[in-house]
Amino acid sequence: KKKIAVMTSGGDAPGMNPAVRAVVRAGIYYGCDVFAVYEGYEGLVKGGDLLKKVEWADVRSYLSLGGTHIGTARCKEFRERSGRLEAAYNMVINGIDALVVCGGDGSLTGADLFRSEWPSLIEELVSTGRLSSKQVAPYKHLTIVGLVGSIDNDMSCTDVTIGAFSALERITEMVDYIGATAASHSRAFVVEVMGRHCGWLALMAGLATGADFIFIPERPPSAQNWKQELKDVCSRHRAYGRRKTTVIVAEGAIDDELNPITSEEVKNVLVELGLDTRITILGHVQRGGTAVAFDRRLATMQGVEAVRAVLEMTPNTPSPMIGVLKNKIVKYPLVDAVKQTKAVATAIDNKEFDKAMGLRDTSFYD
Ligand code: ADP
Repeated sequence: KKKIAVMTSGGDAPGMNPAVRAVVRAGIYYGCDVFAVYEGYEGLVKGGDLLKKVEWADVRSYLSLGGTHIGTARCKEFRERSGRLEAAYNMVINGIDALVVCGGDGSLTGADLFRSEWPSLIEELVSTGRLSSKQVAPYKHLTIVGLVGSIDNDMSCTDVTIGAFSALERITEMVDYIGATAASHSRAFVVEVMGRHCGWLALMAGLATGADFIFIPERPPSAQNWKQELKDVCSRHRAYGRRKTTVIVAEGAIDDELNPITSEEVKNVLVELGLDTRITILGHVQRGGTAVAFDRRLATMQGVEAVRAVLEMTPNTPSPMIGVLKNKIVKYPLVDAVKQTKAVATAIDNKEFDKAMGLRDTSFYD
């Protein structure tokens, strides 16, 4: 019987629970035993109670549960070979040689590294006498499948990541709340949202709420005159009779010379315009709460596809990441997707902003 483990890793995202549920139930449906790894890679490294077989009923009500119920953590040990050796040991003694990881690009990079090292880790476990050749014989290869859980929608080669639409919904709701009080007092609000190298949340929230101005890292404004431009746009909108001013700033906002654009700076510009201005940093409310229907569906379809991918993979197939392109669930080589994602950050650092936008490869930017 095939044994599959499922885990969540890195920053939590709404929809991770529905993804775990789908992997568990699709796994059981296809005749596998499914294990949950608790606390991200820490569960693999430490084993014991952090690695448990789960049944159909264990994931009951996961669809409407925010965060990730099986826990997530940053795990330093897994970054070292010695930590990954323990992880391999714990997997083999439980008879597991397939792992579905739901996380961001860091988690997926770690997973693929683990897979490529697997044969040598197994060899070391045998040569040091911790496991016998007979024990390891059925576990020559590790199968890895990635699901992208990230509120930022910051992975290339997929249109959308699990959790992004839930975070966007939350931001939109919060900006609407702020809008009501802003218009009452005729105030300006600078709303800071998450997204370090990725302005998707800021851009989409700006569109959804009709913000006056949006700052995102992939389309930085001119260092020379963004302040003047911001003033011109906001005063034009005020002249039309608008009683509020809303500016959305991505956490990673920069100008075209790569200087950070902070909420504080934006506020100062609006104050110079004579506007009573406040800053709201939305912070972790963006992550919390339950997943919207879109993310529940996405996580479910992708979780099922992840199990199918595990069952179809041969030792020579590159580890896939399950994504969605033009509304179709697709498999994409994980390493290539991670490489392209990292290239976005590099392109931004090199001031190649159009290239960065192209590398995102998501139809939302078309
Ligand atoms: P995310 O998955 O959201 O990008 P991180 O980058 O923090 O989050 O990664 C989560 C965990 O994945 C890390 O704590 C670490 O255990 C593991 N990890 C990340 N990058 C690597 C890597 N290059 N090699 C091995 N493990 C890694």
